[in-house]
Amino acid sequence: MEISILRLSHRIVRDKRVTTHLALVGRAFCAKKMYYSGDRDPSIENKIREVNERFGGDFQVIYIDDPVKFVSNWRKEGGTAIHLTMYGIPLTHLLDELRRKERILLIVGSEKVPRVYYEIVDYNVSITNQPHSEIAAIAVFLDRVLDGLEFTHEFSGGAYRIIPSSRDKKLIRIR
Ligand code: SAM
Repeated sequence: MEISILRLSHRIVRDKRVTTHLALVGRAFCAKKMYYSGDRDPSIENKIREVNERFGGDFQVIYIDDPVKFVSNWRKEGGTAIHLTMYGIPLTHLLDELRRKERILLIVGSEKVPRVYYEIVDYNVSITNQPHSEIAAIAVFLDRVLDGLEFTHEFSGGAYRIIPSSRDKKLIRIR
């Protein structure tokens, strides 16, 4: 299964940190790509490229200028579009069904999400019906649907590898 993220309405001043963290969490928790709309922000794309160079993998951050069309095309091409929202159906009710999908696009907002997204997606899914954060929502979704894959996934091609340690910071250079 392949899961990508669509971050809607990035605002360069207010959202830089949260959008960067969404990409970092998406990457670490085994999503393939993060698309984003709103303000184009090459600093996020560069930051993730740097992280890939240091720690491996090929997670990509890609700007798109028409997210509604993008979601429609995703579905036309056979992918599943899921909007994460506190108003949706709890993830736990849909887990078996969603684990059978081949390509998932996970949509998260920043400011208020326009009504159209609730209507054009295949599912509106909640991670609890309480308001919290797009970063937490993505992390829980990926962890549950990919069944803890983030704990065993190997990122290839990076310059460094971390040796897990209970006390030290152990980092070895591998290329
Ligand atoms: N005020 C915004 C609205 O009414 O749409 C929500 C802002 S929230 C900080 C940003 C994003 O986090 C939401 O668009 C949604 O994608 C995600 N989110 C927040 N709470 C969630 C929940 N309980 N379940 C799933 N996603 C959630």
